Amino acid sequence: MEETTTPAPETAGKDFIREIVEDDLATGKHAKITTRFPPEPNGYLHIGHAKSICLNFGVAKEYGGTCNLRYDDTNPLKEDVEYVDAIEADVRWLGFDWHGKYYASDYFGRLYDFAEELIRRGKAFVCDLSADEVRATRGTLTEPGRNSPYRDRSPEENLDLFRRMRAGEFADGSRTLRAKIDMASPNINLRDPALYRIRKAHHHRTGDAWCIYPMYDYAHALSDWIEGITHSLCTLEFEDHRPLYDWCLLALGLESRPRQIEFARLNLTYTLLSKRRLLHLVTGGHVRGWDDPRMPTIAGLRRRGFTPEAIRDFAERIGLAKRDSVVDVALLEHCLREDLNRRAPRGMAVIDPVKVVLTNWPEGKVEELEAVNNPEDPAAGTRKVAFSRELLIERDDFREVPPPKYHRLFPGSEVRLRWGYIVKCEEVVKDASGNVVELLCTYDPTSKSGEAGAARKVKGTIHWVSAAHAVPAEVRLYDRLFTKEDPNDAPEGQDWLTNLNPASLEVRQGFVEPALVGAAPGAFFQFERLGYFSVDPDGTPGKPVFNRAVGLRDTWAKIEKKGRTA
Ligand code: ATP
Ligand code: MG
Repeated sequence: MEETTTPAPETAGKDFIREIVEDDLATGKHAKITTRFPPEPNGYLHIGHAKSICLNFGVAKEYGGTCNLRYDDTNPLKEDVEYVDAIEADVRWLGFDWHGKYYASDYFGRLYDFAEELIRRGKAFVCDLSADEVRATRGTLTEPGRNSPYRDRSPEENLDLFRRMRAGEFADGSRTLRAKIDMASPNINLRDPALYRIRKAHHHRTGDAWCIYPMYDYAHALSDWIEGITHSLCTLEFEDHRPLYDWCLLALGLESRPRQIEFARLNLTYTLLSKRRLLHLVTGGHVRGWDDPRMPTIAGLRRRGFTPEAIRDFAERIGLAKRDSVVDVALLEHCLREDLNRRAPRGMAVIDPVKVVLTNWPEGKVEELEAVNNPEDPAAGTRKVAFSRELLIERDDFREVPPPKYHRLFPGSEVRLRWGYIVKCEEVVKDASGNVVELLCTYDPTSKSGEAGAARKVKGTIHWVSAAHAVPAEVRLYDRLFTKEDPNDAPEGQDWLTNLNPASLEVRQGFVEPALVGAAPGAFFQFERLGYFSVDPDGTPGKPVFNRAVGLRDTWAKIEKKGRTA
């Protein structure tokens, strides 16, 4: 894996793609720009696709152009309608809308006509070599390939054979239509590449209408041309395919050709961005589905609690480069934290509870404390939180034997309960096996937050819920899905699955204050001191389920600071 990069905190100026677009508009090469996002409907979109979506739709929007959604559905075997629906939902959720929605398969008729035209122009031929024979004659990086013995067939013979290929007269793999370019080209993609292959397979949209299917490079270039795409933005692995892309358009004498421009694909630490691998995680039962909150899919990130704003911000910050690199996943988390810090209502939840009894609080008395909903947003207002004699606090906020500098609860110590009073731990109650079951505390009636009592300071403040008022909730804590920064880096003889993190999901049964209950799936909150959580659709009104989207500790801010001082 390449070196992990630290993008500049603020990307200064325009990226190279926007520079090209501006130039093309300024010189009048194009009056209006058109881009496209061309997913293959063979899986769910992931965060890498989000980068491409933000780029294609973003550039079109910024420069008054349009962006199409085009399904690159030229491979009949791997595609599915489920994926088509999911892709549309994801693009919309990210905040974008397409000008036109197209399928490469809509163009099969025109692509076929173009192929006949190439044959008539003497630029394509039907080849009878098998896949193995083609491979054997293709040459290597240092050696030229050899011409196919079928290369000099006449256009008439080629047309006849090609039509019979289409009519289903020949078996899969027995013939291909190949471009006639140059078997000695240093670019192997130009050594008479296949344009069409025979595949007697049912297609999810065209059914059994076709038994020959166009190859990616050919279909892509011509689909772009048909839609009037001006800038065809794709990832770097297609750089070597650009000459073939251009060849297809030039060989047909097409005017106003789209320009292909490549940018670096997104790689993220601790993350796999390959639909094939992600599919394997789903079918192998390693995750609960494409939208499992540990998945880097848009659907997974959404369920986890990511917002479109955070993802768009991330796409902007990583910028565009012409060289592959790996982005620290901490940056993605940082973007979410920044967004939710501004917008998430706060609330209190205890996910590993231990009981606190305030022995000097009258039985049955309930006091409504005033709590601020979001200190970052005064408009979010305040709410009432019930305070009573029996409370729950986080087990980790108590130590019988406190480590140095521990400012929370331990025998004899004082701590402030958020929005409430200062309490003192007087006695620890244990069960027969020595587990702490209850903490007997006293509260200081003169220490109430927001009043004169707020002046009395103690070093620690902890969160809590009132035992009688809190609602039981399932809380799902997620960790990275892979233990290795590069999940593909597996020991000899093992594969990437060995890098799966066995502790990537931890389920806790906790309690939340009532204000956190009742929000629709997807709503997000900050659980004070614990992190940002989203409402999972698995929950019910009586038993909500929350996903930890991201913790509060910002590892990225640290990385950035280090980068600046270095
Ligand atoms: P995968 O390798 O995950 O299967 P793909 O490239 O085959 O992805 P496509 O559906 O063909 O997936 O991709 C649609 C668009 O998204 C293409 O233009 C592709 O270049 C872009 N894209 C895919 N992965 C990334 C990524 N990691 N970073 C940026 N763009 C990406
Ligand atoms: Mg692909």
